[in-house]
Amino acid sequence: MDSDLRQKIYDFIDSKGLRKTVQREAIIQAAFSTAQHFTAEELIDMARRIEPTVSRATVYRTLPLLVESKLLKEIDIGKDHKTYDPNFVNRPHHNHIICTDCQKVFEFEDHYMETLEDCISKRQGFTPIAKTVRIEASCDQLRKFGICKNKK
Ligand SMILES: [Zn+2]
Ligand SMILES: [Zn+2]
Repeated sequence: MDSDLRQKIYDFIDSKGLRKTVQREAIIQAAFSTAQHFTAEELIDMARRIEPTVSRATVYRTLPLLVESKLLKEIDIGKDHKTYDPNFVNRPHHNHIICTDCQKVFEFEDHYMETLEDCISKRQGFTPIAKTVRIEASCDQLRKFGICKNKK
């Protein structure tokens, strides 16, 4: 985990008047040592691999805090449960394509898209602050070949 990032997180936790505990440390470590999206339940498993005493309650208390710090983002990928994305730290402008066939989520960045979003907002008299683009798509591989390596 990046030391800059760690500093930012702990500055935030300090500003909230919270204590630094091994459990919280394990949760933070787990959340930001992966490039995968995860659910709260998955984060519990990952954190417990680092520190077995991590409780479910601590994870559910720490998650909103990380989201509030803007380092972790809650994303809507069309599932019932909330999904969290640690990748906005390194790629703040990335977007998601969700394959409705394979259920996989792909991340992409595109400068044209950013420019376009800026232009659209400006034209309507707004300055963009945050945005989420979620493209739901069907899989070309699966349609063409009847098989796709992403399909489980
Ligand atoms: Zn993402
Ligand atoms: Zn596919």
